[in-house]
Amino acid sequence: MSMIYLDHAATTPVRPEVLEEMLPYLKEMYGNPSGLCQRSMEAAKAVETARKRVADSLGCEPEEIYFTSGGTEADNWALKSSARMVKNRGGGSVHIITSQVEHHAVLHACEALERAGAAVTCLPVDERGRVSPAELERAIRPDTALISIMYANNEVGTIQPVREIGAIARSHHICFHTDAVQAYGHLPISVNELGVDMLSASGHKCGAPKGIGFLYIRKGTDLPPFMDGGAQERGRRAGTENVAGIVGLGKAAQLSQKEMRETEKKTAAMRDHLIGRLLKEIPFARLNGSRHDRLAGNCSVSFQFVEGAALLLLLDEEGICAAAGSACSTGSRHPSHVLTAMGLPDDVARGTLRLTLGYGNTMEQIDQAADAIRKCVAKLRETSGEYEDYLQERSVRHTL
Ligand code: PLP
Repeated sequence: MSMIYLDHAATTPVRPEVLEEMLPYLKEMYGNPSGLCQRSMEAAKAVETARKRVADSLGCEPEEIYFTSGGTEADNWALKSSARMVKNRGGGSVHIITSQVEHHAVLHACEALERAGAAVTCLPVDERGRVSPAELERAIRPDTALISIMYANNEVGTIQPVREIGAIARSHHICFHTDAVQAYGHLPISVNELGVDMLSASGHKCGAPKGIGFLYIRKGTDLPPFMDGGAQERGRRAGTENVAGIVGLGKAAQLSQKEMRETEKKTAAMRDHLIGRLLKEIPFARLNGSRHDRLAGNCSVSFQFVEGAALLLLLDEEGICAAAGSACSTGSRHPSHVLTAMGLPDDVARGTLRLTLGYGNTMEQIDQAADAIRKCVAKLRETSGEYEDYLQERSVRHTL
């Protein structure tokens, strides 16, 4: 049985063209970019070519791109070093504005900063998972040092009003960071048009390998280094460069720039077909997130009277690889913080399935997945006491 992979928000396969460009840097071109010999210079040149490709994809200068080990490191750097920068300047209190639906890389970094004395405002979201720019502006205080709002959500795919937030941040002279891990390589991003000062991204969400990402830092932003050590990345991010990973990320950036429009159209058509079928063919199903401000590849649906973890296991037996919308896949029955923030009742949130489409998926696979989901949901409901109670109650109401 061939597997249908619908978990691209978790990670993507490495694109063959990306691997091909990386391989020489894992074999014969293994030089350390900091050295002075021929091998080193080849590696240093490859790093700079990749930096230029990434910069071109964002409309910024290569000197504004700093390679990191991934999105988590980039988020931690942006948040923790911003707080340190204020302290270094002799500033008193530090206030950060973020949202309740951020990835844990941001939320847990904020919690660490709170323990260290910073004040954090965690904005609520509406039922689609969107932050209100007006509410954000009202939360600004004289000591607000940073606004960190994600570009697109990893669970429900909701795209935030980044441009409006960027304009508000600018008008108040506040640094604006966006976690674009799920958006980078999938949506056109211009850091200048958006008014973003820092942006995090990760290679493994867009066809490059795991363990590589970057932080865009606008020229003139006084962000202290996160890692202490050597002089790599212009003295701001120490540690010998992951040359092959950087080369892979550069190639993925170049490919996504070239193919983005076409891929987005094709993926969104498959997503809409999948959403349409699930909502039409399965009773008590609801779509999570925004209909329109949504990543092309995201389909997050909650099925009442079903446990997401059990559904995932059944789907796995059918050869469908997806994710749940809760922490239940890691053994906890707690619904996700994102779905809870959007106002979903716990029992509905627990029946959530996240299907994320990407490179290589076909309409035929989507139809196979929809058939399998319908079958598995029906099977689980057959043994659900809650569903049985509901049906009995309904038939009593009908006969009265
Ligand atoms: N931010 C978001 C929105 C994510 O979805 C993820 C990963 O899923 C991360 C940050 C962390 O990125 P990485 O896996 O590269 O550390």
